[in-house]
Amino acid sequence: MKGHNSQCPCRMCSIVGIQAPNKRLYVPLSRPAGTQPYDPLNLPLRDHKTIMAQATLVSKATNDAEEKERAQKYGIKGEYKGMDEGSDIDTIERGMASWVQEFERLYYQYKLDRLPVCTLPIHGLLHIAGSIRVMGLSWCYWAYPMERFCGSLLPAIKSRRFPWASIDRRILELAQLFQIKAIYSLSKTLDLRRRRKIEVSGTTLAAYPRCVLVYPREMRPVSANLREKISKHLASCYNATREQIVPLIASHLEHWGKIQWLEGGDMMHASELGKHGTQDMTHVKFNGHYGQLRLLLVVKLEPSEVLQTTTTKFHLLAVVARSILTLKNRLDML
Ligand SMILES: [Zn+2]
Repeated sequence: MKGHNSQCPCRMCSIVGIQAPNKRLYVPLSRPAGTQPYDPLNLPLRDHKTIMAQATLVSKATNDAEEKERAQKYGIKGEYKGMDEGSDIDTIERGMASWVQEFERLYYQYKLDRLPVCTLPIHGLLHIAGSIRVMGLSWCYWAYPMERFCGSLLPAIKSRRFPWASIDRRILELAQLFQIKAIYSLSKTLDLRRRRKIEVSGTTLAAYPRCVLVYPREMRPVSANLREKISKHLASCYNATREQIVPLIASHLEHWGKIQWLEGGDMMHASELGKHGTQDMTHVKFNGHYGQLRLLLVVKLEPSEVLQTTTTKFHLLAVVARSILTLKNRLDML
């Protein structure tokens, strides 16, 4: 099967995808005005005879362009080799059908710009009951571990001419790495995930061992207003007056773009430093409130008689603008 990007992307039925403004295809039950919606309990199921006929059409295409066009149209890559003919469930079927319809009502709202919520996994729920009827319980044939494994192999293919050799080498190296980790207790040291890389390469302050600061980093001046707030805060930390603290704060402070909580915590992004893509990851929850993380600052205070300190002190401060939530949705939730 071709999968997500063909005109008929579902492996179980021939539902036709609708193109969203992002050029991708999605599969809502509801259709544009004037077109009959799909009945969730009576989907146009694929059957063996039709699949084989379509696969033959794809395979017998006279050139690559025609083959590609037919594969895209039917959602089938070509002929299969060695394919066989192939109470509670009713409750599951009706439950899934009404869930998908309700999902579309709440989230799709039958609007073109919301089409991306109508993904194939949501549509796939409508086939669970039918699949159980035809093939037995889902766990007998589900393929999550294998799909995940296949996904991990794709980046291993460095040579289009010798893909199998690439995959063999990748599996061998993974097995070797796993054994080295197990034999020499190096699971953490040889952890190649991005999160681990950040944890190792980030900067940790001794006073804040539970988090690492992540680039970008810049020395920047701070506004008079912010300087006042910082001095107020530090005054309360040292039992000193604000006037005593102000001269101890440098004119330029260290600004960081991101902070990562260790041991599986989140990465938080400061809105005023670094690039931000279409996903805004600068909003945080703090003390039961929501807000936007604007700045991450490190204030360095040299040893001082006023503060009664004999060593350099570092203070990691976050500037968070509190969000005021005023809108409620139709479910009366904030
Ligand atoms: Zn389907």
